[in-house]
Amino acid sequence: MNNNSNFADVILPLPLAGLFTYSIPEELKTDVAIGKRVVVPLGNKKLYTAIVRKLHNNEPSDYKVKDILSCLDSSHVINGYQLKFWDWISQYYQAVLGDVYKAAVPSGLKLESQTKISINSDFNTDSILNKTEEQILNVLTHSKDVSISSLNQAVGLKNTLPQVKSLLEKGAVSIDEQISAGYKEKKQEFVCLNSDFQEDEMGEILNKLKRAKKQQELLYSYLNLSKHFFEETPQKVSVLELLKSIDCSRTILKSLIEKNILKIYFEKVDRLDHSEISSSELKILNQYQEKAIGEIRTHFENQNCVLLHGVTSSGKTEIYIHLIEEQIKKGKQVLYLLPEIALTTQIINRLKSVFGNKVGVYHSKFNDAERVEIYNNILENNSERSYQIILGVRSSIFLPFNNLGLIIVDEEHENTYKQFDPSPRYHARDAALYLAHLHQAKTLLGTATPAVETYFNAQKGKYGLVELFQRHQDLEMPEIIVSDIKEARRKKQMKSIFSPDLIKMMETCMENKEQVILFQNRRGYAPYLECKSCGWVPNCPNCSVSLTYHRHNNQLTCHYCGHGTHPPVNCNHCGSTDIEDRGFGTEKIEEELSAFFPDARIARMDLDTTRKKRAYEKLIYQFENHELDILVGTQMVSKGLDFDNVSLVGILNADSMMNYPDFRAYERSFQMMAQVSGRAGRKKKRGKVLIQTYAPDHPIIQSVVKNNYQEMYSSQLLERQEYIYPPYYRLINIGMKHKQQHLVNEAAEYLAKSLKKIFGVRVFGPQAPVINRIQNNYIVNILLKIEKKSSPAKAKWILNQQANFIKEIDRFKAIQINFDVDPM
Ligand code: ADP
Ligand code: ZN
Ligand code: ZN
Repeated sequence: MNNNSNFADVILPLPLAGLFTYSIPEELKTDVAIGKRVVVPLGNKKLYTAIVRKLHNNEPSDYKVKDILSCLDSSHVINGYQLKFWDWISQYYQAVLGDVYKAAVPSGLKLESQTKISINSDFNTDSILNKTEEQILNVLTHSKDVSISSLNQAVGLKNTLPQVKSLLEKGAVSIDEQISAGYKEKKQEFVCLNSDFQEDEMGEILNKLKRAKKQQELLYSYLNLSKHFFEETPQKVSVLELLKSIDCSRTILKSLIEKNILKIYFEKVDRLDHSEISSSELKILNQYQEKAIGEIRTHFENQNCVLLHGVTSSGKTEIYIHLIEEQIKKGKQVLYLLPEIALTTQIINRLKSVFGNKVGVYHSKFNDAERVEIYNNILENNSERSYQIILGVRSSIFLPFNNLGLIIVDEEHENTYKQFDPSPRYHARDAALYLAHLHQAKTLLGTATPAVETYFNAQKGKYGLVELFQRHQDLEMPEIIVSDIKEARRKKQMKSIFSPDLIKMMETCMENKEQVILFQNRRGYAPYLECKSCGWVPNCPNCSVSLTYHRHNNQLTCHYCGHGTHPPVNCNHCGSTDIEDRGFGTEKIEEELSAFFPDARIARMDLDTTRKKRAYEKLIYQFENHELDILVGTQMVSKGLDFDNVSLVGILNADSMMNYPDFRAYERSFQMMAQVSGRAGRKKKRGKVLIQTYAPDHPIIQSVVKNNYQEMYSSQLLERQEYIYPPYYRLINIGMKHKQQHLVNEAAEYLAKSLKKIFGVRVFGPQAPVINRIQNNYIVNILLKIEKKSSPAKAKWILNQQANFIKEIDRFKAIQINFDVDPM
């Protein structure tokens, strides 16, 4: 079908606002369509893969438009739901569309002239390729990481993106980050006849091949294997199979292809292992779960979102599984969001055992090629092969769903759902609600410790509220013991960083062959070093933070910019050699533990031990299988993991969480402690939790001890109202950044002043954050607090306008200004 439009407005993968208009040359008119990728030039030499957003006939009057160079797709890669979703993300989170595009699509789908390409070493170089493709491979055999613009030069073409795309699909090349060892070719080469030859034509062809005996033999073999003239739909014949059948080389096949008799096509090998098809039945829900699921269904009749507030181990996941099953039966897709990759490894097994190969996983530990594959799998929308259920972290909201029935946001309170940096600074839970709305789907938020905002919405009736207070098999909630560190220190009873109670309880566990989890929300060995004589602390040269000491590599590391250095031998100030480590992180806990429990099998789970792709799986597997006695970890261990033999959980430093300068610090501390406590408790035996703190009487600690969410919620709600915070007010943070402190301060003062003229007392700041310099950029924030009733769209519009005014002032031009809507 020919479209009659002469112009296309496209989204470029660049941090630029708005759409860009290009003209559609005659020969591309049949191809170019909304949601497809096109190659367009920008500036002098650069090429980008853009997404067609609109087609029209309005020629821009103020500049000369350039032509679209080529169209990469035969059908859309971004569907209509996605385009609407991107618009919403862009508007709500004040992000430019280009940034949304960049975040939403795996790199392999958005090649640009700067994209670096390498040859894939396990690719079969004998494959049949066109001339340009071969030329490209030639260039790549000699050098690694070649940018597409250099490729263009090397092969003397203006635009090689279509060929690169084709080579990517054949698995011949890969793009920068993904040349990982784990890459496996997932496409297979097949042979078929080049055109629909009739029997007599074929006879003639075979006849002509008389003098090329080997070629003739190969063609006969193909006809045999494919049963071409015997069956309505011929059998698929792979290149490998064909060559093996008469034991010949690829050159023979190549000749038949050059004569246009045979051709090669690529097809995905079915990655989905059909042997895995579901084996186990759904678990029968207990009476409380039955009641809860009934309430959820009832709420869904007239509400789009339900909060399932169920204590840890109440069997929320089993409820999800039942609800997923209902959707699958209806032929709908389900998106199951989790806050943490570590969690996917446990849940995936539970889902696979029920839904087999209908479940796919999506997260950042996959390389780009794998992400592209999952993306395409869903895009394909093939009822036999496409995943029906996607289990993923926040970025999976951008997958090309076309038929969502239900979105589950598990552990909805977790702040990892929020993307901090870069733009778009979206919250996956909140965005999921809009995504569900687009699909007329339902959203289920689940947690044992709802976010104050979420519980507020449920209380107000905006969401349905379902509560589940009984653990499965009536297991008791853990007993929580508070250990007063101040007292223990005064009496000199502390055993290194452990209270005497904790050591005693751990000893009992070890004797009983029960497992222990120790939680400390700090990785590394020590948060900082300090000179004992003068108090000097080594700080990061680029950021306003102390350097964290890591013992395993004897390095001081900045957790903000990655700067690393050797620990100093002498104090920089007074020259003293008496430098001590202060505080403790997971690494130190692990080390100290082995002194107290030399026979225990101890492991650590934090960012440093889980960098490798399968590291989580391995740790969780070992712990599940009782190959480990003690697991030390950061918040990674707190989130929803389900172990059956943990009788003790130790929280080593509750105070650092509570003292964090943020209006959500108490809420978060409660959530963290309640969640990690939830890991304690064995089949039929009550678990124990020990909290080490300097403030045993602190109301938040007391709420944790009583397992009283309501108490925490009510006290927080009062504070939020009094101090003008969500859920009563909406926050927008305006972050400003620049290398020169006086300049960013000046600009912030200026902006704040003009905002105060418009928004009055709703403007707070400018104020420097606790860490006011990161990577040599000074940071200043202005906070806008607006009433829930007033129009956020209007406020955002004004913000944008005012920020643009600042940018027009010459000396402020280079200042980075970003907006964070609903900051966390
Ligand atoms: P939650 O998600 O609320 O923390 P889970 O769904 O993980 O709770 O359930 C905790 C444990 O109890 C899991 O090991 C789960 O398999 C088991 N369980 C929950 N409900 C049932 C049920 N109806 N029948 C059998 N086992 C169940
Ligand atoms: Zn000193
Ligand atoms: Zn730094």
